[in-house]
Amino acid sequence: MSFMLILVINCGSSSVKLALFHHDDPNPVATGMVDCIGTDSISGSYRIGHEPSKEIHCPANGDHAEALDAALTGLRSEPALNNLTVTAVGHRIVHGGQKFSAPVLVDAETLAAIRELAPLAPVHAVPNALGIEAAIRLFPEVPQVAVFDTAFHQTIEPQVYRYAIPEELYRKHRIRRYGFHGTSHAYVAGEAARRLNLELNNCRLLSAHLGNGCSATAILNGESVDTSMGLTPLEGLVMGTRSGNVDPNLHNYLAKEAGLKLEEITDLLNRKSGLTGLSGISNDFRVLTQKFNEGNQAAQLAIEVFCFRLARELAGLTVALKGMPDALIFTGGIGENSPLVRAKTITHLAAFGFQLDPDKNETAGSNSMGIVSSPHGPTAIVVPTNEEFAIARATIALGLP
Ligand code: AMP
Repeated sequence: MSFMLILVINCGSSSVKLALFHHDDPNPVATGMVDCIGTDSISGSYRIGHEPSKEIHCPANGDHAEALDAALTGLRSEPALNNLTVTAVGHRIVHGGQKFSAPVLVDAETLAAIRELAPLAPVHAVPNALGIEAAIRLFPEVPQVAVFDTAFHQTIEPQVYRYAIPEELYRKHRIRRYGFHGTSHAYVAGEAARRLNLELNNCRLLSAHLGNGCSATAILNGESVDTSMGLTPLEGLVMGTRSGNVDPNLHNYLAKEAGLKLEEITDLLNRKSGLTGLSGISNDFRVLTQKFNEGNQAAQLAIEVFCFRLARELAGLTVALKGMPDALIFTGGIGENSPLVRAKTITHLAAFGFQLDPDKNETAGSNSMGIVSSPHGPTAIVVPTNEEFAIARATIALGLP
């Protein structure tokens, strides 16, 4: 028997994550990851379903194509997958600029456009393009689909996406708010509407994607109308190691007062700030929660700032909904697994009528949907995200004959 599978690829600068899906099944048949690509510490592993993971034998200093090839060789060595036939490939692409408002079939023009967006996504655009090129080499006959993190937010209006800076900068350098995590926000909005018997195209939703990166989105009648991230994924909420919003004069101040260079400030705001910076402990929410419970004041402050800023952002996003939200969605590693964050955020939003159900909140999550609010106010619900499956679905919609 041969398996017709959708391969989903997420290429970072030095890593490749992949997942294989049977057509309509949200549970991946297999997942894999290769890290430290291009170095002699390159290593990887894969898993079939929930079985224990196995090592991928990667060639030292291998590039993205060799990493992908090694991962697929590993998967094909499994008796359950040795007739594996990849039917279509879906790619997670971080930045689609103003050009892409939906997934597209990849051709030479798409690939050139993704590369051309590199100034807007310096860390991601080049590896994203490398991933596509590698997959084309490995599967030349198979349709390849690009799914953009920014695409869902292309519905937001100029009053929401323009910065109050000279117009020329928008025209010449495309400086505007784009928003990210669009695949996740769109997916959980659809799932929540289904679960809550809401018509997606006739409801008001707030979605909080809280993982290592965090963003919140207002979704009106199924469309993104405002979101917390901007030109880059640094804007908005407090994140694992990213600061989120700071005073735009901070660069100037740090350069003058602390003698920091531009790259050092960029590094500080992206890699040393957020929960890591506030706590001085970790960006791992499990560690911070433990420290919080032990009474560690730095961990407590980090979590308080995280939740307050989230609630403030959600309150602001409500303006774009033009009415009270029907539901608030929590998703991502923290949103799905931290009753503490949900409780604090919902409590901050009491003015909007939200009320926590403490018992339901404690037991919600763990890979299933669950309401965490009392019935006396708007609904707050945990919805596990599944970006890879959302990409597989988009790939099927476009890529299959
Ligand atoms: P993601 O980027 O969506 O994988 O989310 C990663 C974040 O989720 C990290 O901060 C993890 O510490 C956090 N996380 C994962 N599991 C849990 C958990 N059980 N409780 C609290 N935080 C968690």
